[in-house]
Formats: sequence, C-alpha cells, structure tokens
Amino acid sequence: MSTVVADRLVPSPASPAPPPPLPQQSHHETASPVNDVERQQRAARILRDAVAAERPRHDWAREEISAIFYQPLMELSYQAASVHRRFHNPADVQLCTLMNIKTGGCTEDCSYCAQSTRYQKGTGLEAKRVETVESVLEAARIAKENGSTRFCMGAAWRDMRGRKNSLRNVKEMVTGVRAMGMEVCVTLGMIDDEQAKELKEAGLTAYNHNVDTSREFYPSIISTRTYDERLKTLGHVRDAGINVCSGGILGLGETSEDRIGLLHTVATLPSHPESFPVNALVPIKGTPLGDRKPIEFTSMLRTIAAARIIMPATIIRIAAGRKTMSEEQQAMCFMAGANAIFTGEKMLTTECNGWDEDAAMFGRWGLQPMKSFQKSPVSAGDVAARRV
Ligand code: SF4
Repeated sequence: MSTVVADRLVPSPASPAPPPPLPQQSHHETASPVNDVERQQRAARILRDAVAAERPRHDWAREEISAIFYQPLMELSYQAASVHRRFHNPADVQLCTLMNIKTGGCTEDCSYCAQSTRYQKGTGLEAKRVETVESVLEAARIAKENGSTRFCMGAAWRDMRGRKNSLRNVKEMVTGVRAMGMEVCVTLGMIDDEQAKELKEAGLTAYNHNVDTSREFYPSIISTRTYDERLKTLGHVRDAGINVCSGGILGLGETSEDRIGLLHTVATLPSHPESFPVNALVPIKGTPLGDRKPIEFTSMLRTIAAARIIMPATIIRIAAGRKTMSEEQQAMCFMAGANAIFTGEKMLTTECNGWDEDAAMFGRWGLQPMKSFQKSPVSAGDVAARRV
C-alpha cells in the first residue's frame, strides 16, 4: 500500500531554521528595504485574498502557497482558524479507526515503513496473512460502538495486480462496514481504473494514497514507485467517484520548501482531496529513517494551518504521531483547522490514542464527534450561511 496513513511517522530531522517571513524573491529582484516592503505587502495581499475566498481554488502558484506558509505562525494560525469557522463547524472532529488487514511483507522500499520486506531483518516485523472478513467486521463494530464514524483498512501491498481474491474479500469488508452506517476507506497501494470502479460499487467512501512529500524530495524516500504513479492512482480513484484521501509525512528529512511542494501538489489536483492526512514520522528502528529526531510541533502546526487556508473545505486529519503531541498541542491544531483524528487501539504498526482518552479530551475542549457523511465537500451556500 502506498500510503500508510500512519505508520510512517516521525523522524524529522533537525527542523529547518525558522522560515523567512516573506515569499521568495524572484531572480530579477535585488534585496533592498524597498523590495522587502513590497514583498511583505504582496504576501499580506495573497493571505488576505486567500482568507476571503468563498470557495476552494485549484490554481495556486507555488509562490502564493509560500507567501501563506511563511506568515508569522500566530497570524497564520489565527487566519486559518477564521477560514475553518467559515467552512466547518469548529466543534466537529471526525473520529476514524484504522485497521491493518494485511501486515508486512510489502515489496516497496518506503524508507519510513516497518512493513517493507527490505527492512524486516532490522524491524523484526513478521508478515501476516490477510484478516478474515468476519474479524474485520467485528473490529468495525467495536470502533462504531466506541464512537468512530469512519473505518479505514490498510493492506501492505504494492498494488492490486493479480489479487482477485483479495479484492473480492476487501469489497465484502467495504460493503459490510458501509452497512453499519460508517464511512469506509481503504489503502491498498496502487489501483487501476477497473479496481477503483469495483471498490466504488462495493460502497467505498474514500481511498487513501498519500503523496508523502514534495515531488523533488520524494526520490530520497522511495525508489520503487514514482510520484507520477501515485498521482495516477489518485486519478483512478477520483474518476471512479470515490473521495480522495491523500496527504504527507513530516519529519522525513524534508525542508519547509518540500512541505510547500507537498501542499502545492494536493492543492492543485483537479479537485482537492476530501481528506488531507498530516503524519508526523514515527521513526521505527530498523528502517532507514529509524534514527530521525521528531519533527518540531511548530512545523506540524504551520503545515496544518496553511493547508486549511488553501484547501478550505477539505478534512484535515492529524494522523500518525499524534501520540507524541500534548493535548494542548492537539488543541492548537484543532483551532488552526484540523478536524479529524485516528482513534482506537492502534495505527497500522504504531501506537494510537485510545477512544476513552480522546472522549475525555473532547469533553475538556468542547469538541464533538462529526457524524458520518456529514462532511462532503462544502457548498458555497454553506459558506454563505456561516457568514451570517
Ligand atoms: S513499504 Fe509498502 S506498506 Fe509500507 S508504506 Fe510503502 S507501500 Fe505501504
């Protein structure tokens, strides 16, 4: 699967130095106080226009995203919170539970992942057989009882080629979970248009396939499949009428410019992802990124806030690495526009905050679980209504 929403978390290299407060100069500009003022004014204009927009835009220039991303963090968070309130009920946070339905044995070489066979010696993670339909439906039932409204199933596969039986089982799982009234998402690696159509017919709500990072940095992390192959799968998902869930992992060793590149990729897709997971690398011993230092929280917050402004209707999901965040840090993220979390017993291979812990946090901060199917892309009418 290409994109494990969660278990790729953490390393973060030394976080890059604090970003410059202004968009980058073009090559024909010379540094001078006058130019600095002009750039600052241009950045302020870009932010103001982005915050005032009534509907999502898909024609972002990378420089515009850069101008937003590098705003002072307090201002960026405040403006993101304003956008969030116009497009969403800020009290609503979606509870999603993740289940690994096929652990380990993956032929890909994603540097952060414990499930790759290439790092098995170091990680000691044993490959398992695919879970049965019954055990998956039982897990979904428990998740629903505990308040989760979305159930996501991940399988450590490169793609679905030659997996006819597995696809049939996954479709049965999808149909069964959907019959419980839950949203259902899967992450199975690359899929073609036919497989996407079959999953849609089975009742699939969303397909997760992260792009992980910027196009430029991506080859440093994965060599067995290209960035364009990832985008191709997203196209098949979108064309089949399935919601796209696609995000990234912070702390892989990328720079702020790579985070801007990641945001630019997803914000300029033909339609914004319905869901944008933001993972903090959880370094796993035995993988090439196993010794990375955790990403700084401010980098997570900055990425979430910028994403909220440039993709105002998207659900922004705090994914892997939430376990390392304090409750106050999580609250800052909710304030700045995050509105979904994974909750339950486990992520794919890493730890997860449990349902009871999250229910207690929701009580303290006045948050409430989002209802199933409440959050399809927001219409302009919704936005107008919220302005009143
Ligand atoms: S190694 Fe396989 S399971 Fe792990 S993230 Fe990559 S594609 Fe997914």
